Amino acid sequence: MANRANRRVLQGCSLLCVAAFLWAKSAGPSAAENAAELSPPGPAATSNFPVASGARLAGDDKQTRFILDLDKTIQFRAFTLADPYRVVMDIPQVTFQFAPGTGNVGRGLVKAFRYGLVMPGGSRIVFDLAGPAKIANSYVLEAANGQPPRLVLELEEVDRTGFVQGLTPENRPELKPTIAEAKAAMPPEAASAKPADPADSRPVIVIDPGHGGIDNGTQSGGEMEKTLVLSFGLALRDQIEKSGKYRVVMTRTDDTFIPLNDRVKMARTQSAALFVSIHADALPRREGDAQGATIYTLSDKASDAEAERLAEAENKADAIGGVNLNDEPTEVADILIDLARRETKTFSNRFARLLMGEMKSTVRMHKQPLKSAGFRVLKAPDVPSVLVELGYVSNKGDLEHLLSENWRTRTVGSMAQAIDAFFAKRLATAGPPK
Ligand SMILES: [Zn+2]
Repeated sequence: MANRANRRVLQGCSLLCVAAFLWAKSAGPSAAENAAELSPPGPAATSNFPVASGARLAGDDKQTRFILDLDKTIQFRAFTLADPYRVVMDIPQVTFQFAPGTGNVGRGLVKAFRYGLVMPGGSRIVFDLAGPAKIANSYVLEAANGQPPRLVLELEEVDRTGFVQGLTPENRPELKPTIAEAKAAMPPEAASAKPADPADSRPVIVIDPGHGGIDNGTQSGGEMEKTLVLSFGLALRDQIEKSGKYRVVMTRTDDTFIPLNDRVKMARTQSAALFVSIHADALPRREGDAQGATIYTLSDKASDAEAERLAEAENKADAIGGVNLNDEPTEVADILIDLARRETKTFSNRFARLLMGEMKSTVRMHKQPLKSAGFRVLKAPDVPSVLVELGYVSNKGDLEHLLSENWRTRTVGSMAQAIDAFFAKRLATAGPPK
């Protein structure tokens, strides 16, 4: 046990080092010293990160300027993305100390912006644009005349053609492949959870806490979906691991952004026998109130309008995190994949029904607890997958549940029972695992 824990620590460290190295590589040679300073970014080192103390917008619909106040100069890279129009700015990991609400209100060409960690060692600011715009200028100023060091980004209105022409190869995002490379080199949990013993034939369960990093998910008051679902996911992992019957892999164990496709990929490369994505919903105030947990499976056509709205909202995660959606591979049409998908669908639906059966005796469920829609995170053709919305952060009672340890323990317990029932049946019909 101690051995295993040690290995995790070591691997965690080498992941950070790999990430720091990749960052240094992608940000140019002069960033190497920067990366060295940043590594290892353990909790104790947090205070060594540059501090971003303020951010503001100036200008109008033709020209808009973004100014970031820092305590030291940093390297950065900015690029534009289409559909939706965005500007993404990648910087080394910084500690954001913005006033609450910063970025919620736009100005000129910028509708809003968000910021956060996108990978260990790397932070990101994503600007939602009101229309096509180009980066006219961007630079870092040293401290001068009583002003702190500043990073300035100047945007200028262009038409769609001008915008698309601006998407030259050198302007293409690189952090996405960088994330992929870092994962390939050392997937955080995927690797650390790999069995030391290749004879480990236990079924693999992937637990996927939604959102993370720059993508907060839904929010209510100070509570963020990304934090609630992470604590739940970790509690679920601990509960399932107790029996020793399964190998559990987390898509994330900290506040890091993971693109949707990478979550699906992780399930596939781990040959997972089950994928459980954990989320919490919110209903816009004008749409009244809703409460209770809902279990979703994948379908081409949403089971109702609410399921469609939800899938659309959850599928926005990549756009929020600044991923270039045009880079996503198109799906392979293959008869084998089709067959696998049909079987997978049967298993997904079976698990969803078992889960509802267990959960409804302990947890408040939505009035229609089983639904389906086109969630991108459920699209592994060969891994039975469900997405659980634990409740509505917009509902007072549900939010209380989500924050209650007692509720979490009960819910995690019923989910673990459903998982046991699912695999008892699977193993009985399919025989022992290969
Ligand atoms: Zn969500």
